[in-house]
Order: sequence, then structure tokens, then C-alpha cells
Amino acid sequence: MTGFAVCVLGLLVGAEPVGGAPGLWQVETERLRASVERLASEEFGGRGSRADRGQTAAYLASRFRAEGLSPLFAGIEGAAGVPRAEETIRDYLQNVPGPAQAGDERPLAERPALGWNVGGLIPGGDPAVADDLVIVSAHFDHLGRRGGELYPGADDNASGVAMCLELARVWGRSKVRPRRSIAVVGFDLEERMLWGSTWFAGHPPRPLSQVKLFITADMIGRALGDLPLKDIFMLGAEHGKGLAEVVAGVPRDEGLKVSRLGVDFIGTRSDYGPFRDAEVPFLFFSSGEHPDYHSPRDTADRIDFEKVTQVTRLVGEVAWTVANAETTPEWQGRGEPEVVEVETLVHVCDQLIARDEAERRAGRSGFTALQRLLVTNTRNQARAIVERGRLDADERGWLMRSAQLLLATVL
Ligand SMILES: [Zn+2]
Repeated sequence: MTGFAVCVLGLLVGAEPVGGAPGLWQVETERLRASVERLASEEFGGRGSRADRGQTAAYLASRFRAEGLSPLFAGIEGAAGVPRAEETIRDYLQNVPGPAQAGDERPLAERPALGWNVGGLIPGGDPAVADDLVIVSAHFDHLGRRGGELYPGADDNASGVAMCLELARVWGRSKVRPRRSIAVVGFDLEERMLWGSTWFAGHPPRPLSQVKLFITADMIGRALGDLPLKDIFMLGAEHGKGLAEVVAGVPRDEGLKVSRLGVDFIGTRSDYGPFRDAEVPFLFFSSGEHPDYHSPRDTADRIDFEKVTQVTRLVGEVAWTVANAETTPEWQGRGEPEVVEVETLVHVCDQLIARDEAERRAGRSGFTALQRLLVTNTRNQARAIVERGRLDADERGWLMRSAQLLLATVL
């Protein structure tokens, strides 16, 4: 029985839910679907232009407020809000100024906003650690319209924002408060060199030393290369002492496979970048790139909402656990190379080979001979490492290059 089933059962018999964070059984697939559909609709214009991003930011702020979250930027200098935003939501918004123009002598915070970060707070209940912060985040901006065509960005990243809205709802309504504070944040301008999260990390509402864990989700509703993968990739755990163990220890839906990779496999691809650079322990969740990435075909009807639901619960459990733990994961440089990463690679290669074989059986062209060689070779060598049960730094370097080559040429 999963933890959620246990929780629901606890509720049915009128007992306190056992295990797992309070309320996460309330995470609802249909509400996640409705959020993604709305965010990806014409109403928000693909969340690309300044006006459309401003409207999206105001919408998210009003949702955080309606769910009972406190404003994250209250009393913070430079939190001026979107133009014409109602007074009631202004403190949920952080102005993100544009880069300095030549000759503009004004301090950054006084320049007109290029975008807006959005944040709500669940204040911690334990005075000893309530100043600590766990951040759960997703970027809400996307590509807007190009050549008259809407880029809905349903997976990128309405899916991650829907997760944030759902967790805001669950935590905003919960009578149980976490010991540490939890912030739910929507970042603007991720598609423009992570400018929103970079600004936030440079002008945080609380010192970054108090951020005990930063989580961001970017594209959590599809599958890598459209392969039949039940995976959510989790990167960054290698930089937080004990973080992988925290994730392994929380209740999880059985259908979801959490596949670990070192963040150096992909470099800087989302809003964790500025936090990693500031040595804040972090986790990045993504289901990976697919053929509709950054295209008008990234639509809501192609999203696996069951997966979005499962990831939302997982992220909620991890954030809640760290917000209540005795000790929090401390930053560490990369540790020893880990075999679990190689298992992830074997698993992806197996799926690629299976798809290629199915394509060829059906008389369609699969891989080229060279691609097949690359995938098979990588899989076989990776499998040998898994069977041996350990790998060294040289092998990891080789695996990383193979994985990058796979991403570039096969997926
Ligand atoms: Zn994205």
C-alpha cells in the first residue's frame, strides 16, 4: 500500500493520517489538468510578451493569495508589483529589472520591470527554525507567439506551475504548519537566460544561507524522447548530504520511477543554476526533452496528468520532510561517482533499443547503423558497470560524453 493510500485510509476511519505529509492525498489530477489547460490557453498568450507574463504573474499571485499563502515579498525593497496590479497582490510580486542600459545610472532596483517573480509563503511554526526556508518553484514564462502561432508551453512549464498551484492549495489549507517556512515561487524570464531566478538569488527575500533546500520542476508531464518511460529524472541530489536518502524515504506512488542523474550530465538547463552556483542544496525534477519541446505542439492534450500528479506528491513529500526534519541536507561538492546514474542510462538505452526493434519489425526505418551502434555500445558498457557494482571517475566521464552524444544524435 502506498503512503497515500495509508493517508486516505486514516481519514476514512477518522484517525490522524499516518506517514506522509498532511493533505497530499488531496492532490487532484483533474485540478492539475485544469491548471495546465488554462495556463496553456490563448488567455495567457504563450506567456512570452511582457504583457502576457505580467498577466500570468498577477493570476498566480491572486491564486496564492486565495489559497491562504502569505506574501513572500512583503516589506522587501523593490517589490513593486505589475502595473495596475491590485494592492492586495503586490507583495506577492518581485520586480525583475532588465539588464543595465549604457548610460543608465539608476540602481538596478529602480529600473522599470522586465518581468516579475511570484511568491507565496507558508510560515514555519517552530520559532527555532521558522526563519529557515524550503523553496518549491517552477518558471511560468514561455515563448509566446511566433509567426502568429501560439506556443502553449503546456509541458514547458505549465506542468511545473500547476504543481506549485496544487501544493499551494494543499499547504495553504492545512491546519498543520511545517516547522520551517516553505515558499512557493513562480519564476519569470527562465527562457531568457534564467534572468528571473538569477535576480531572485541575487535579491532573495531571506538570506540564501537560510534556504535549506531549493526544488524546481521544469517539464514534468511528458517522457524523454517520447519513449514509454514512467521516469521522472532527479538531478542535483549529489550536492546535498543525505538528500538522496530523504527522497528514497518518502511515500511514493508505485507507478513513478525516480531516476537519478548528476546535474553535470546536462549543465545549466533551468532555474536551479543560480542556486547551485550559490551552493544552496537543490533538486531538479524533469521528465526530459521530447520532440514537441519548444514547438507549437507542446499542448495540454499531450500531457500525462497521472505523472504530473505523482511528481506533485513526491515533491510535496520531499519539501515537507525537509521542512520538518531535525537536520537539513548540507551542500557538498560532487561525491563519488554513483552506480544509480549508470542504471538510469541502461534503462533509457533499453527503451531506445526496444523502440528501434519495434519500428523495424513494423517495416519503418529506425536508427541508422551508426546510431544503433552508439546506443548498443553505450548500453552494453553501462550494463557491465552496473553488474560490477562500481565505477570510477574516468568511466563516469566516458558515460557522460556518451549520454550527451545520445541526447544530441538519437533523442
Ligand atoms: Zn522550461
